[in-house]
Amino acid sequence: MRGRDVHENVDVESSHDVAGIRYERALPLWSKRLNLVGKADLVEFQGETPYPVEYKSGRHRAGHHEALQLCAQAICLEEMLGLSVVKGALFWHGSRERREVIFTDVMRGHVEKVVDGVHGMLEQSSIPPPVNDKRCTHCSLRESCLPAVVAEKDKSRKAARELFIA
Ligand code: SF4
Repeated sequence: MRGRDVHENVDVESSHDVAGIRYERALPLWSKRLNLVGKADLVEFQGETPYPVEYKSGRHRAGHHEALQLCAQAICLEEMLGLSVVKGALFWHGSRERREVIFTDVMRGHVEKVVDGVHGMLEQSSIPPPVNDKRCTHCSLRESCLPAVVAEKDKSRKAARELFIA
């Protein structure tokens, strides 16, 4: 619910200018090279230069997955506009923090690796098992994914196999 509220303001396509900066909200994005489609919460255009801003509910948390998501947006913008996008920002609504992210070659390589992995999973119609670790604590999919329950099921199956098959 909180995430939805945060995104309500950035989910409706709109465009406006303030003090020489153009703000594009809910901007559709794509990359043919990486076979990606999506939507940017906000892209600020300072002149011709796009600067993606990704909104997150809650407070700033550890981990770099949010930066990778932002970097993927930058890669899409570069392909769509034929411009270089070197940085963007993450904004955490809960703590009102804004952090700039520089899109390094290492980060871009990591995005491509993740994209390849996801495409591989889609081709094989398989999903990885739940990680059931600290990454789950603040995951927005936690209530649908039920990582602990699924992990326990795997444990029970393993125990049953060891008990009755061995
Ligand atoms: S709750 Fe599920 S989707 Fe989220 S991090 Fe854990 S295993 Fe992954």
